[in-house]
Amino acid sequence: MNGSMFDWPLTLDRILVHAERWHPDQAVVGAAPDGTMVRRTYAECADRARRLSAALVAHGIGPGDRVATLGWNTLPHFEAWYAIMGIGAVCHTLNLRMDATQLAWVAGDAGDRLLLVDPALLPMAEAVRALCPGIEGIIVLGDGTDALIAAHEPARWGGFGEDQPAGLCYTSGTTGDPKGVLYTHRSNFLHTLAILQPDLFGIGAADSVLPIVPMFHANAWGIAFAAPAVGAKLVLPGARLDGASVHRLIAEEGVTMSAAVPTVWQGLLDHLDREGGGLAPLRRVVIGGAACPPSMQRRLTDHYGVEVRHAWGMTELSPLGTVAAPSAASAALPPEEAGRLLMSQGRPPLGVELKVVSDDPAAGPGAPGRLFARGYATVGRYFGRETPATDAEGWFETGDVAMIEHGFLQITDRDKDVVKSGGEWISSQGLEAIAAEHPAVAHCAVIAADCDRWGERPLLVVQLREGEDCSDASLLESFDGAVPRWWVPDGVVRVDAMPLGTTGKIDKRALRTAYRGHLRA
Ligand code: ADP
Repeated sequence: MNGSMFDWPLTLDRILVHAERWHPDQAVVGAAPDGTMVRRTYAECADRARRLSAALVAHGIGPGDRVATLGWNTLPHFEAWYAIMGIGAVCHTLNLRMDATQLAWVAGDAGDRLLLVDPALLPMAEAVRALCPGIEGIIVLGDGTDALIAAHEPARWGGFGEDQPAGLCYTSGTTGDPKGVLYTHRSNFLHTLAILQPDLFGIGAADSVLPIVPMFHANAWGIAFAAPAVGAKLVLPGARLDGASVHRLIAEEGVTMSAAVPTVWQGLLDHLDREGGGLAPLRRVVIGGAACPPSMQRRLTDHYGVEVRHAWGMTELSPLGTVAAPSAASAALPPEEAGRLLMSQGRPPLGVELKVVSDDPAAGPGAPGRLFARGYATVGRYFGRETPATDAEGWFETGDVAMIEHGFLQITDRDKDVVKSGGEWISSQGLEAIAAEHPAVAHCAVIAADCDRWGERPLLVVQLREGEDCSDASLLESFDGAVPRWWVPDGVVRVDAMPLGTTGKIDKRALRTAYRGHLRA
């Protein structure tokens, strides 16, 4: 027997319809290519998105068709998302830091029919189209979409089921070809409700929210859905994500909540070190995508009064897995221990199941092991693949190594970043957290370097703060007493600028390629 409640499919068009009805005058602002801010309201965005939907329908786009976007976080991009998803088509967010060959591969794999692109990226889009004949046309976000919006009456949204696909996002492909994750309306809708909880992003109607994390990086971690879902002001930063630009936006747009990877926050902190100033009215930031060094967390909290929520997730989890916020159990611990837990990756919300499996049969509970996830917003099968991405019980192997302590998840490494020294594992992230404490260090990474005797040994790669200098010995002293002697890196490499991957995180694969032979040299 089924229940008898009204059938109200959880589809994403309803989010903008809700914002239009209950928060019609709330601001959605976005940086234009010249850096000026364009100002609209949720009511205007909803109307414009429906008109753009009509243009897509006129082109022959229907439910399930893939429409790609290649753009920064801007107003036209935001409107395009809802225009595509509102008619049941699939919004495929392309990662603009990939090159034309990679993008063409991804667009071909996805079967993208149209490509909506930022004006500055038009040459790239044309190069992609030349390599990917399936793309029928290119529309420029801004001038191109404005013309279509002016020429069409609003379309009707909805009328499809919640299991209809809504979005497609490819993993960065650090191991093999990129793989597509095809989100459903239902999975993104429920993920939106999850991240709004007070223990997660905790966004309300009085917030002004700045998603610095790009819309192509796992749906801007869900913020382009969550802000309209509660009627928060949405501030879209465009292409300028340097410290000075972010600082200005926070002050000018009254930003209270924001989210980005650690390298972005480091840029902002460096800017504040140089120029001075505070972060008001910013109250809370979500830092994730890579481990947030405790030193960064402390600076933001103690110095600038900003609460840090350390989050772990991945494209395959829509992306949220865990967020660190206090629990009754953590509050009952001595302050130092409680503080340490809040610097871990945190706890999962309802709907994210996690398990840690140790390869060592003798390991007790709490021992580190391979991390698996399962839930309503976790991948089941990659796009276009026949075989499941999970085991028979639906568990997806994340590729991360983790342990669980007092109910908090601690990621100790990525499988492929662990340093395997003499058969024992050394956590590169544990070493990075310590190295980041050194006052001269701007960015750091620990990688596995080849070693004849031990197989691999840790190598510390650092980018020093501007104008700072210090000896290798001073850098390595940081580890004294903090980790076992045999964990201490065998060498130090200095770089002028850390290589960054396509989602703005430190690219450890590039570092490994460059320096894996360093200790043998
Ligand atoms: P990419 O492969 O481009 O980095 P994702 O953003 O999906 O794609 O990366 C997910 C991975 O990023 C996770 O599996 C994990 O290794 C790492 N990660 C994400 N958040 C954190 C965090 N807070 N701490 C440590 N690692 C993290």
